[in-house]
Amino acid sequence: MKIKETLHREIEGDDIRRIWGNLQVNAKDVEGKTIGLYFSANWYPQCQNFTPVLANTYKQLKEQGANFEIVFVSSDEDLSSFDEYYRTMPWLAVPFSDLQCKKSLTERFQIEGIPSVIIIDPFGKLIQTDGVDLTYRFGVKAFPFTHERIADLEDEEKANHETQTLESLLSTHSRDYVISQKEQVPISQMVGKTVGLYFSALWCPPCQKFTEKLASVYHNLKEKKEDFEIVFISVDRGEEGYIECFGAMPWLALPYEEETGKTLLKYFNVQGIPTLIIIGPDGKTLTQEGRNLVNLHLETAYPFTQAKILWLQERLDEEAKSYPKSCNHIGHRHALILVSANSGGGPFICCECDEQGWGWAYQCIECGYEIHPKCVCEVGKYDLKEEHMRISDHSCACSNV
Ligand SMILES: [Zn+2]
Ligand SMILES: [Zn+2]
Repeated sequence: MKIKETLHREIEGDDIRRIWGNLQVNAKDVEGKTIGLYFSANWYPQCQNFTPVLANTYKQLKEQGANFEIVFVSSDEDLSSFDEYYRTMPWLAVPFSDLQCKKSLTERFQIEGIPSVIIIDPFGKLIQTDGVDLTYRFGVKAFPFTHERIADLEDEEKANHETQTLESLLSTHSRDYVISQKEQVPISQMVGKTVGLYFSALWCPPCQKFTEKLASVYHNLKEKKEDFEIVFISVDRGEEGYIECFGAMPWLALPYEEETGKTLLKYFNVQGIPTLIIIGPDGKTLTQEGRNLVNLHLETAYPFTQAKILWLQERLDEEAKSYPKSCNHIGHRHALILVSANSGGGPFICCECDEQGWGWAYQCIECGYEIHPKCVCEVGKYDLKEEHMRISDHSCACSNV
């Protein structure tokens, strides 16, 4: 506790260099080290997801003897939440009671969202502001987070993606197959097909919802005898979840082995689920936006090529010309305004169906409320039967998992 107290006091200093300089004198634990300041809170799902990933990276770096330390800067709501959350962390923390220190760090590093990891080099110089993304993408390899190191990793990553094949993605030195509900299926049998890599888990409600939709798309494409396949990649927290999750799926899966799935999560920089990544017949990645495309276009998104996506987008733009500029949706108390990706829109989570969307949307800027055009239910259009009843001032509690 003494080191932690010293640490937080010193971090309170005005200048980034001083943080380091004084720590060197007072806290042996951080001497000569690269420091990550971890801004996080236990009530936010993206933080809950990221903390174990960061902890794993931290533990591996410690085992390797890396000169690295992390300091948790909490946005928790009360002391008991802080205590509970901090128990899952193997690093240092600014004490919960030191509001002034938290405030000054948040302001100094211009933290606008959590989770956020700020990396300071052993000389006290701020070197990275996107430590979360770097940790997801590169894990322990990101250390010591210098610009040279990250540039090398990015080059390596680019080269890997350019030479990627379905086999290089899905096989290991000891396994050249995936599995169906009944048997092993050689990966070589899928070469030349369009393949969806579906990252999903039992603990994620949006995944269950999307799995149903994807299963119907899969079924329809199979009926048309399209060369399409899906492989489930589990993000489950144990084998039981994996078995139950895969049990409800009509397609193939990677066998339950944590490492391949984790490698692929990192390789594709997957930060939320459900995620559907589409691999083309040549083994190269066609798009990481499979989930959006399926939500928007169902099986017409197939074969997910750029040309097809462009064509679908143009068709949507054409359709949108007939949409009213604003509407009164039964699920929201304010009028909603039509926006496109080019006019204030962008990727969003629909507050009506909880699915992702992009492109055209109806939006209430004041509330951040946003829905798909297809999810609009005009006030007065239907009788207020029970199935159409909504709470009039429904506030949107959507978040990306
Ligand atoms: Zn919707
Ligand atoms: Zn509103």
